[in-house]
Parts: sequence; C-alpha cells; structure tokens
Amino acid sequence: MGIRAFVLFASKIWNFICFVVRKQLRTVIQHQTVKYDVLPLSPLSKHRLSLVKRKILVLDLDETLIHSHHDGVIRQMVKPGTPPDFVLKVTIDRHPVRFFVHKRPHVDFFLDMVSKWYDLVIFTASMEIYGAAVADKLDNNRGILNKRYYRQHCCVRYGSFNKDLSAITQDLSSIFILDNSPGAYRAYPDNAIPIKSCLESQFTSPWIVIIRYIMMQFEFYCHICTSICVIMHV
Ligand SMILES: [Mg+2]
Repeated sequence: MGIRAFVLFASKIWNFICFVVRKQLRTVIQHQTVKYDVLPLSPLSKHRLSLVKRKILVLDLDETLIHSHHDGVIRQMVKPGTPPDFVLKVTIDRHPVRFFVHKRPHVDFFLDMVSKWYDLVIFTASMEIYGAAVADKLDNNRGILNKRYYRQHCCVRYGSFNKDLSAITQDLSSIFILDNSPGAYRAYPDNAIPIKSCLESQFTSPWIVIIRYIMMQFEFYCHICTSICVIMHV
C-alpha cells in the first residue's frame, strides 16, 4: 500500500471514529440529569411584583410543550422503545384513539417557573377534545393552565393555523406567545418567542435559555430588576 492510499485509509478511519464519538456524546447529553437552583426574589422585587399588572404568556402544545403520536402511526418519530410520559384515550368521530404523549424535558419545571410571573394561556391548533386532555395532564391539578383556546379559535391563512392574540386581550403590549410554528404568530411577530419543535431539537432544547429570555422580557416590561437566578447543574 502506497503512502497516499494509507493516508486516505487512516483519514477514513479517523472520520468514522469521530462520527461514533459524536453520536455517543449526543446520546449522553440527551439523557443527562439536569438540576436547577432558583434564588428567590428580593423583598423589594416581591413588593414591586405585587404592584404590576400580570402579563400573559400563550403556550402552544404540540411540538412546543409536548410531542405525541397516535395509534396507527407506522413511522414513529421518537426512538422506538421510548416510553411515553402518559397515554390519552380520546374518542374522535366515534372512534377511540390512543395518543402517546412525550413531554418536552423539564416542562413541569418550566411551567412552575413561568406561572410565577405570567398568566398562562394554552392556545393549540389541535382539536379541543385532545388539547383539553393534554392540558389537564400538564396542569396536574396546579390550576395554572385553566385558560385554553383550541382549533376553533384559530383562523386559517396561507395554509396554516393563525392564532389571534387579540381574542385573548386587546392590550397587545402585555402578551407573548411561545410557539414552534411561525404560521401561528404570523400576525404578531413582535409578540412571538420562537422555539424549535421537540423533534427538531431532539428533545434537548435548553429550557434554561427560554426561561432566561422570558424572565428578561418580564424584567424589561415590568421594570423589575429580579434577583431570580436560574442555574443549571449538569
Ligand atoms: Mg405546535
């Protein structure tokens, strides 16, 4: 074997090793334990918080807070064998359908955090019978996801479901929407917080970044300098 052929062969082996290591690393990162520490508000910020009008954070469900698939889906998008966080049995057009729902990692923590600063509203383009069942599960009797809007509250434009924020409040300076679908907030780009879909982000989307961003919006618009600090330990 000539030198050139040997270098080519060695380079191919090296690339293969790098590929395997990167793949394994991604799997490890995806399943690592994350612990959040939250420092509380100072008494002054707490007092100021009690004086300001609460703002509204609108949350999409599918591919934002959760990913789900139902019976009969031949090609599942999640890794085969991954157990769902919960299974819903819903009757659609008189047919019982089971939905296997995977929560976005740390979504319970996320909801706990943002519900301290915002009134939360679920706005999904899904059918009410399914969306309500998912929202009930995510709420888990905390009473933080009581306000809900469904497919019948959306309007269809340019082939996608648009979510009308003015149906929730006329004060558009006090409302944000977190949604994986740009079509949903097409009419309200200034109110949007885009997020990658669960699948696109391989379920590893850093909530920490989203929480920090939402917190900054809150500080800016409410003129409260919070002492809340969210630290991620890996
Ligand atoms: Mg969505």
